[in-house]
Amino acid sequence: MPEEKKQTQPAKQYRRKRRQPKSQQQKESQPASSRQTNTRKTAISVVVPLYNEETSLPELAEELKSVLGGMGMPYEIIFIDDGSTDESFKVLRDLHRNNKRIKVIRLRKNFGKSAALSLGFQNAEGEIVITLDADLQDDPAEIPNLVRELKKGYDVVSGWKKRRRDPITKTIPSRLFNFIVRLFTGIKIHDFNCGLKAYRKDVIKKIRVYGELHRFIPVLAHWQGFSIGEKIVQHRNRKYGKTKFGITRFLKGFLDFITVIFTTRFATRPLHLFGSIGLVCFFTGFFIDAYLTIQWFLGNIALSNRPLLLAGFLLIIVGVQFLAIGLLGEMISRGHHVKEEYSIRDILD
Ligand code: UDP
Ligand code: MG
Repeated sequence: MPEEKKQTQPAKQYRRKRRQPKSQQQKESQPASSRQTNTRKTAISVVVPLYNEETSLPELAEELKSVLGGMGMPYEIIFIDDGSTDESFKVLRDLHRNNKRIKVIRLRKNFGKSAALSLGFQNAEGEIVITLDADLQDDPAEIPNLVRELKKGYDVVSGWKKRRRDPITKTIPSRLFNFIVRLFTGIKIHDFNCGLKAYRKDVIKKIRVYGELHRFIPVLAHWQGFSIGEKIVQHRNRKYGKTKFGITRFLKGFLDFITVIFTTRFATRPLHLFGSIGLVCFFTGFFIDAYLTIQWFLGNIALSNRPLLLAGFLLIIVGVQFLAIGLLGEMISRGHHVKEEYSIRDILD
């Protein structure tokens, strides 16, 4: 019977289990003699979001086990089943039974890759956290290379699928996407949305990945002051199953990009964005109408047949509206000034 319960409420079970480290933390304030040795503390957490990937999972778990085992560091693998409707969870349950380093969290429905990653981040215990896709396109053999790069002093190391094994309908828009994001954010990496990434624990506990913002994790991390590195990684063909993101990914990606730029750069000072647009509109309209008014005073032309007059009015009105939106934004953001806004590196007390 308890086994049954475990099947229907894995997330709860898991949470209960995870309370243990807290009490371990308390123990750490005890004298060293009574303290447990720290050698078993998880060093690497691998977070794998998945949605209907039943066929890939056993192979992936084998590859991960052999790579992580070879690194000689205590590890955990956290699979987040994002509401799969195939047999993925059954496969994961068997994997978990055979290897206690494999942990599984199952979502009640498909919440999306960002939600799955975010849940994985919340539950990861390792000092280093690796993410990779479950479809075997990301090669686990790259994990040691990413970790080595991370140890050079980066906070995040993002994989770069330089030779990408995807159809051209995906690769070309993706290049454009990466180019635009690079241009607007100034972050010098080539592949923002690579599933294979390595993070220091601080990063994943700090950034908030929701909606479909997983495409912008390097941007979110960069705006919190974390350093971002990049490493070329092997990419493989999708062996089983099919992609979970259709053509709408590009439209959504673009809209999310606006959200990211706004929330990272302007959320605390909306007037800088709306106010700039507003002032440009207002003054353009003002000078157009001022010019027409002077002409009218000089008696040259009647204003009734000058469409430019309307354009001027329109610009003035739109300008005032943008300014007002900016001011409203300022009022709202003032009430929302969260203490979490800044990311602290060190405190010397
Ligand atoms: N994924 C997920 N939830 C979703 C969609 C995708 O967890 O709603 C997982 C998916 O199972 C895979 C990873 O995210 O492990 C990347 O998805 P996919 O391979 O379909 O993306 P692509 O490689 O086509 O960009
Ligand atoms: Mg894939």
